[in-house]
Amino acid sequence: MSKDINLEKNLISVELGPQAKGFVSFLAKDPSLNRVIKDFRYGYTRASSFFKKKIPKIKLTLVYSREEMNNLIGHKTPSWFVGYADSSSKIFMFSPSVFDRESNHNKRDFRKVLCHEICHLFIRKIHNSYEPVWLEEGLAYYAAGQKSRLKDNNPIFNNPKVLFFIDTRKRWDKTIVSQPDVPYALAFLLVDFLIRCYSKDRVIKLLMSLGDRYSKKIFCQKFRKLYGKDIEVILKEFFSRQNE
Ligand SMILES: [Zn+2]
Repeated sequence: MSKDINLEKNLISVELGPQAKGFVSFLAKDPSLNRVIKDFRYGYTRASSFFKKKIPKIKLTLVYSREEMNNLIGHKTPSWFVGYADSSSKIFMFSPSVFDRESNHNKRDFRKVLCHEICHLFIRKIHNSYEPVWLEEGLAYYAAGQKSRLKDNNPIFNNPKVLFFIDTRKRWDKTIVSQPDVPYALAFLLVDFLIRCYSKDRVIKLLMSLGDRYSKKIFCQKFRKLYGKDIEVILKEFFSRQNE
């Protein structure tokens, strides 16, 4: 099914920046194509200057129905799910021409979500693992300029174990099912706090130090080495800021 849809698609190349080329796979007569190209350049430039890196080739495949998305992923996807980045510099996303029809997002979100997915590709160049998920997602959110809030009285605040509910993919997915917005918002707020209070470079160094296989124990050790404090102490600082 997805193969047939792919066959009908056209491919164009886009200059994203110095030594960086993008490719867009799209359906003929997609009225959003020019906008996609503009947003692709914007997202790449933003991510590239944030991470101070280049990616020579990125392919963006525009997706036109929930069914096509489900076929690509291999299972049913929830209505908030609009795109993803894989491990070989490929991004799949709903075209703006179907964005609000196929998801519960506003079409306006396209640009930031595309930038978010591009950021994932850059993060993967620094650290080739998706875990801890809160750090990956929070950083992609932050770098893409997305904003998120949680109600101050959300019980998730003041839970000293909260990070270890959203560190592995399995635990993250479990939390997502029960309350889809909370893990993303929390991940963003935490990374935002770490960057504002302890610098972006330290977050990048932390990512670099983690190696490709996540372990809670190693994470806590590396964290203490870089921040000079236990993660629990930093979490307390974070919570007290949120409750201010
Ligand atoms: Zn993400």
